[in-house]
Amino acid sequence: MSAPPAQQQRTLDDADSEVLTADEVTFDVSTDILIVGGGGTGLIAALAACENKDLTVTLLEKSDRLGGNTSLSTGMIPAAGTRLQKEAGIEETPGNMAQDILEKNDYQADEGMVRHLCAHSVELIHWLIDDWDISLHLVDDFKYPKHSEYRMHAPPGRNGENMVEELRERLESQPNTEILLNTPVTKLVAEDGSPAGVIAGAVRQEAIAAERVVLATDGFAGNREMVKTHCEDDIEKALYYGSDGNTGDGIRWGTQFGGELACMDAYQGHATVVDGTGALSTYAVVMNGGILVNENGERFGNESKGYSQFAVDVIRQPGSIAYEIFDKRIFDRLKGEFDDFDRAVELGSYTKAETVKELASELGCDPVKTESTVQSYNLAVEAGEPDEVCREDGRNVLSRPFYGAKVTGSLFHTQGGLVVDENGRVLRTDGTAVSGLYAGGGCAVGISGHGANGYLSGNGLTTATGLGRLAGTHARESLSEK
Ligand SMILES: Cc1cc2nc3c(=O)[nH]c(=O)nc-3n(C[C@H](O)[C@H](O)[C@H](O)COP(=O)(O)OP(=O)(O)OC[C@H]3O[C@@H](n4cnc5c(N)ncnc54)[C@H](O)[C@@H]3O)c2cc1C
Repeated sequence: MSAPPAQQQRTLDDADSEVLTADEVTFDVSTDILIVGGGGTGLIAALAACENKDLTVTLLEKSDRLGGNTSLSTGMIPAAGTRLQKEAGIEETPGNMAQDILEKNDYQADEGMVRHLCAHSVELIHWLIDDWDISLHLVDDFKYPKHSEYRMHAPPGRNGENMVEELRERLESQPNTEILLNTPVTKLVAEDGSPAGVIAGAVRQEAIAAERVVLATDGFAGNREMVKTHCEDDIEKALYYGSDGNTGDGIRWGTQFGGELACMDAYQGHATVVDGTGALSTYAVVMNGGILVNENGERFGNESKGYSQFAVDVIRQPGSIAYEIFDKRIFDRLKGEFDDFDRAVELGSYTKAETVKELASELGCDPVKTESTVQSYNLAVEAGEPDEVCREDGRNVLSRPFYGAKVTGSLFHTQGGLVVDENGRVLRTDGTAVSGLYAGGGCAVGISGHGANGYLSGNGLTTATGLGRLAGTHARESLSEK
């Protein structure tokens, strides 16, 4: 289900408030801990919150299914120092993981939060496996760029949907937990500066009282107006590849409680989504030697700077289109190794031809120029010299037969959001916490710094799963102590 149209277009500047005061509302029902959004953050917050059976936990999801972007992801949770790593002979500390994250974003992210989430990652993985029987295994045959160790803990099939399914099953077996689908939260209710409940429902609206509210609504990539306002020029034109429900609702509500925002320009893009089939052409195609040209057959930047950064470069080409050119050696190498690649092949995303000229003609880019571009690339690779776009990484001579695809740049998710403390509580600009209001995952500021450059693979699920658990735990404990 798409988000209500109003939520897809609202911005931080809209004058009418999305937060009501408690004296304007008569509550229909009540719960103790209310979680808005049923992706990774929300499901894990609910798991942590429901551990006290004297408390009731309610999770409201806007769409007709759980999972959000978490379902679209690989579901791989990075963690350093787990027993799964030790059993595989890997000695790694949370400090090593933090260093990889911070180096990738040039130390622009909040260092304290990065270190905190890395330290917490060990307990998180053990808790998911031991307390909740969530299936996770260590990925020790494939390392993401800039990961200095094997640290991805993956669900079966390396598919986020499988993790979401297990989390749903565990929650549905809890007597004190309720999950409601097709239930968008449209407004928050405040009392004395803290949350008192929410207004929710697609058709009939209900007012639900709650002393603790966890904002797990992800970022704002599904809201073009907000993307246009906060992210770099042109990325708002990119194909949106994430969940429709992610329209920045929690971020806007949080600011109306005085919450501070940070790194609102941060996002993750992807440079090679196949035009037509919509399949993701794994960037392993490029990093094994493939190149991108525009309709004039010209390269337009160093492709190896990364799939996220390069997305906007593709968007800026005529028609927002680029042409991915590679060869049989790369095709054979990736076939059967990457689910994304196999899916793209199955969908008929790639064109094959004996010569670059033929391939370019079929794809729609200038045949003569494309041929000379590939020749010049090959010569630079053979000579061991930088090529015309100063690329030195992941190059290989391309030889017949050739493969190619018409691709466009896409937007996966945004990484800017509410500043939170070590328990996921929303912080005001003066550093004080809004009592009872939590945010995690894409709704909270991420750990990728600014722009598109600082995203290290796994950062999305690090804040979703980590802050989800911390927020759910704090919400539960703070009510249990009362
Ligand atoms: C294609 C793709 C692949 C990715 N791959 C990876 C990966 O491999 N590793 C990684 O770490 N990250 C990856 N990411 C990023 C990662 O998926 C996200 O950062 C993470 O899942 C965010 O979790 P979340 O719980 O904050 O949001 P989501 O999982 O998106 O869940 C948010 C939920 O909130 C709901 N919602 C929103 N507003 C409301 C409202 N008003 N009322 C009720 N419900 C609402 C939405 O419908 C949605 O279901 C990927 C993202 C995409 C799009």
